[in-house]
Amino acid sequence: DGHVRFEDVAFGYEPERIILKGVTLDVPAGTSMAVVGPSGAGKSTLARLLYRFYDPTAGRITIDGQDIAKVRQDSLRGAIGIVPQDTVLFNDTIGYNIGYGREGSDQDEIEEAARGASIDHFIAALPQGYESMVGERGLKLSGGEKQRVAIARTLLKDPPILILDEATSALDSRTEEAIQSTLDGVARNRTTIVIAHRLSTVVGADQIVVLDAGRVAERGTHAELLAKG
Ligand code: ADP
Ligand code: ADP
Repeated sequence: DGHVRFEDVAFGYEPERIILKGVTLDVPAGTSMAVVGPSGAGKSTLARLLYRFYDPTAGRITIDGQDIAKVRQDSLRGAIGIVPQDTVLFNDTIGYNIGYGREGSDQDEIEEAARGASIDHFIAALPQGYESMVGERGLKLSGGEKQRVAIARTLLKDPPILILDEATSALDSRTEEAIQSTLDGVARNRTTIVIAHRLSTVVGADQIVVLDAGRVAERGTHAELLAKG
């Protein structure tokens, strides 16, 4: 479950200005794809189309063979977890932020869930002393730490498809590690699309697509792209 395909997708926010053109992608269920490319290439736009903030002006996007334009919005969004590039957290505990939106948002339950096995990888990447900070209020987190909390929150919902948009965030090296560990571990059983600025963040992706001016300029594994220069 979670086979994502873009078939010759084109899109423009305004009709006279094409942002994406002829984009064809195939992300088999349970695999990861990283999208890299310069700022303004259309990487975030691609994610917005998959989440149906917008619809393509040409071509189509399918999940498990179904055109997403014909899938109910709530079931589409239930299937996709998205971690936006500029995460806003509630002025509350890490536990609250990770558990927010879960059924029966009882604080203890949330904190228990936040400690759960599915985010083990992230606990290592979260701020030092994370375990004791789960219930602590008034935390001052860096941008990178906030993003790790947002990743954990999204993973807790266990979506079959995960989109991580880290394109323009000011990432510290520990956040890069967290993203890398998503690719290496947590994301293994879900379809994962990572939007990244640096190729070095996504060494573990099953495939990497280089987007340039709205077109796929290169694709391959990390090693293949390095060999091409
Ligand atoms: P990237 O993620 O690769 O940096 P984006 O997808 O954010 O690129 O943006 C691609 C292009 O689309 C840019 O030229 C940007 O200015 C434009 N763009 C992005 N969002 C909007 C919007 N909401 N309305 C109009 N143009 C937009
Ligand atoms: P910056 O210097 O702006 O931080 P990086 O060099 O860290 O960017 O990030 C990698 C960027 O360089 C990506 O945006 C990608 O488009 C490009 N890039 C690097 N190596 C390759 C490659 N082998 N093939 C295609 N694009 C590459």
